[in-house]
Amino acid sequence: MARYRDAKCRLCRREGQKLFLKGARCFTDKCAIERRNYPPGQHGLGRSKLTPFGVQLREKQKAKRIYGVLESQFRKYFQWAESQKGVTGENLLRLLELRLDNVVHRLGFAASRREGRQMVAHGHFQVNGRKVSIPSYIVRVGETVQLRPTSKMQARVDDNLGGGRGQVPPWLELDTNEKKGVVRSLPLRDDIQIPVSEQLIVELYSK
Ligand code: SF4
Repeated sequence: MARYRDAKCRLCRREGQKLFLKGARCFTDKCAIERRNYPPGQHGLGRSKLTPFGVQLREKQKAKRIYGVLESQFRKYFQWAESQKGVTGENLLRLLELRLDNVVHRLGFAASRREGRQMVAHGHFQVNGRKVSIPSYIVRVGETVQLRPTSKMQARVDDNLGGGRGQVPPWLELDTNEKKGVVRSLPLRDDIQIPVSEQLIVELYSK
């Protein structure tokens, strides 16, 4: 399972905005965007205006980075989204939202998608009562996502739920006591609060 292992804050600095990749730190003044809001690298301060291609590329990179997905997997999501009925860009974002690591984060069990990914990969969650340790697992409507009763992450998840930085989106339902969430419906575009213009990604891949 390949994944990006370098400094996360570089990714935000490259995109020029907070992508909230690190959980609690992102809400403090230690955030790299608060301190050095210019692209990383030797020529970070001297970069010129983006071309139309550059703008599309940046939107695609931003979406990949927010969800922690690498290029080949992202392209597969795009092909899958294209083959579905409806608007391709919305389908793409919906697929990314339905990843198990994202759902764990959206429910508030994990402070970031990255933490959600780690918790899932280490086998702390079950879907419909069965252990699932694949962060890219796409949850379906009606499925339940629950912290396993034997998990050693109980205190951590309690902390994260107590921290409650964002509301649970309307397509999910949370039972805090049981540490369980249910997928009530598919997420609509308005429910997906990420700063990405999906149409630009579609245009980039359609060239
Ligand atoms: Fe991005 Fe969070 Fe790092 Fe700030 S602290 S630059 S939001 S990952």
